Amino acid sequence: MESIPEIFGEYVFSDERMKENLPSVTYKAYRKCIENGESLTIDIANVVANAMKQWAIGKGATHFTHWFQPMTDMTAEKHDSFINPDQNGKVIMEFSGKELIKGEPDASSFPNGGLRSTFEARGYTAWDPTSPAFVKDGVLCIPTAFCSYSGEALDQKTPLLKSMDLINIHAMRILNIFGTPARKVNTTVGPEQEYFLVDKSVFDKRKDLIYCNRTLFGARPAKGQELSDHYFGAIKPRVHDFMRELDFELWRLGINAKTEHNEVAPAQHELAPVFATTNIAVDHNQLVMEMMKKVAARYNMVCLLHEKPFAGLNGSGKHNNWSMATDTGLNLLDPGKTPAQNAQFLLFLAAIIKAVDEYQDLLRMSVASAGNDHRLGGNEAPPSIISMFLGDELTQILDDIKSGVGHRDTEREFMHIGSTVLPTILRDNTDRNRTSPFAFTGNKFEFRMVGSSQSISMANTIINTIVASELDQFADILEKSGDINRDVNRIIIDTLEKHDRIIFNGNNYSEEWVKEAERRGLLNLRSTPDCIGRFGEEKNVALFEKYGIFTRNEINSRMGIMYENYCNILHIEALTMIDMCNKNIIPAVIGFQGKVAEAAAAKKTVSSALSIKTEEDLLTKISKLLDCLATSVKELEDEMIKVNGIKETDDKARFYRENILTCMSQIREIADELELIVDEKDWPFPAYGAVLYSVR
Ligand code: ADP
Ligand code: MG
Repeated sequence: MESIPEIFGEYVFSDERMKENLPSVTYKAYRKCIENGESLTIDIANVVANAMKQWAIGKGATHFTHWFQPMTDMTAEKHDSFINPDQNGKVIMEFSGKELIKGEPDASSFPNGGLRSTFEARGYTAWDPTSPAFVKDGVLCIPTAFCSYSGEALDQKTPLLKSMDLINIHAMRILNIFGTPARKVNTTVGPEQEYFLVDKSVFDKRKDLIYCNRTLFGARPAKGQELSDHYFGAIKPRVHDFMRELDFELWRLGINAKTEHNEVAPAQHELAPVFATTNIAVDHNQLVMEMMKKVAARYNMVCLLHEKPFAGLNGSGKHNNWSMATDTGLNLLDPGKTPAQNAQFLLFLAAIIKAVDEYQDLLRMSVASAGNDHRLGGNEAPPSIISMFLGDELTQILDDIKSGVGHRDTEREFMHIGSTVLPTILRDNTDRNRTSPFAFTGNKFEFRMVGSSQSISMANTIINTIVASELDQFADILEKSGDINRDVNRIIIDTLEKHDRIIFNGNNYSEEWVKEAERRGLLNLRSTPDCIGRFGEEKNVALFEKYGIFTRNEINSRMGIMYENYCNILHIEALTMIDMCNKNIIPAVIGFQGKVAEAAAAKKTVSSALSIKTEEDLLTKISKLLDCLATSVKELEDEMIKVNGIKETDDKARFYRENILTCMSQIREIADELELIVDEKDWPFPAYGAVLYSVR
């Protein structure tokens, strides 16, 4: 067997590899540029590019690509070979510093939300040296940011990197106030990825899975997830082989694939890596999704990353575990062991509480998508209401601080905050609330609303930015303070007084919570069209412009992309549904009806005394349902004509949401009822049971 430590990161041009392969002066100059955030000179870039190329060729690479993350939740790549003709009719393998640093893909077909017209289709890709290059399928991939000719970001990486710089600045200011030694603060993320595996032969028979990545029809199977026998159950050999091969692929790419298990629904699984610095974690998660699909295909399976592939069963999410860590290895959300650390922890906690309350809308928006709408609020995933879980113990500590328990003199009070029993016990007592969208789990927060197919970039850009903006405000107060202890205390109390409505430790799935949240004035943005516009609200535009994360233009373009994406997805789903009804379901039901009618007539020719009650009842029922189905399909077709006439994308999205989706669920209900009474041999595609239990 291959030695895992030996193969780990085999395909990554890591810092260590760079050190081995570069002349030491170049390596030092390169590191200096990176650490100071300066751009590389062309001379250094040429040497780095050459070393990278030599190494990549050794790993079997023939091509290179600027690997980037456009607004599609996926990654993009265009391969260029290293070859260059020489004068003797032969070729040499070349890769220049210029090619490493900057690319100019003709990018007119990527979503840009109006930022570029086709005549200025050029986009630029720029190397992100903070994320290492790697070789994948014989191609040297260089992680890059992607922007328009005029410098506006067209990707997920650019704002994320900016948000990381931002939180570093303001978290460092807080650490300086406390005298905590550190040079840099990074945010860390560990995303737990859920997915489904189905056999390719059944997948290929369902147009809804092929076109929409989710089923648009399907009656409940006799057995679903009610026995809870799949969760953490023994992994089937074929799935086990898949997971093993996936692990090796990921390890070679330097991804710390760690935990894997069966999830709640049949055919559902999860993979969690060990956490990493956020931009690396984002890149890695994109690769995890890509590799899951590739490796599944080798086992004749299809990996479904959709948030809700099957109605009535749990959907898939991506728990985004988030924290902040210093370059010295201190986790800033670890409650700590000494009073000073406790106070610092409580101040960071206060910043997060304030941020989540003030920017509920942005957090909700960051996970809004047509697919995730089916999952959020579905009694298996957090509701659409943002709240925070802190656990009873931490909440009690905060309540005591707020009510001034033991509050006599500020100096002692501050030390009192610090010496309350914060450490260690917390870690075991939290994290038993699985229903909260934003839960403190001992030394990190877990944002559980991200959809399984989404890039985690936007969610983290938002978390970083909103927390940084609160830290900025706190630092402004504390840097001017004559009495740090007193003012830290005041900030915490003030935050709790204004924002503790966001803390909820109860059951987020309950109906009472929806009412209680409304009473508390918390937002309940139920669907994507309700969320998108919030991005462009003045308070949010002001936040992003202040910190240079997004310009107003970029926000408008992103909202445009989100609306368009939502409409496109619903458009495809509705057309697929119409197609499956007209070409598959209706003809199949007519055929079955004919068979029953023939059988009844045949009976009568044998003897008119024979009862044909069952056949008659069945025919009556089928015929009625079939008429309903045909009428509903016609209605949907009419609605699709109407939606085409709507100009504004936000109105269009709302129409899809209100009218088209309603029509679609009506059609589904009728078709699912028919599925339950039509002979399974006549049903035109595999039923839920056949799909869910297809992998053995
Ligand atoms: P759970 O109880 O949710 O299964 P785990 O301990 O398995 O919790 O962790 C889930 C994920 O959280 C893993 O990806 C893990 O690496 C990540 N994680 C742990 N600590 C941190 C941290 N400080 N910052 C970010 N992610 C973290
Ligand atoms: Mg978890």
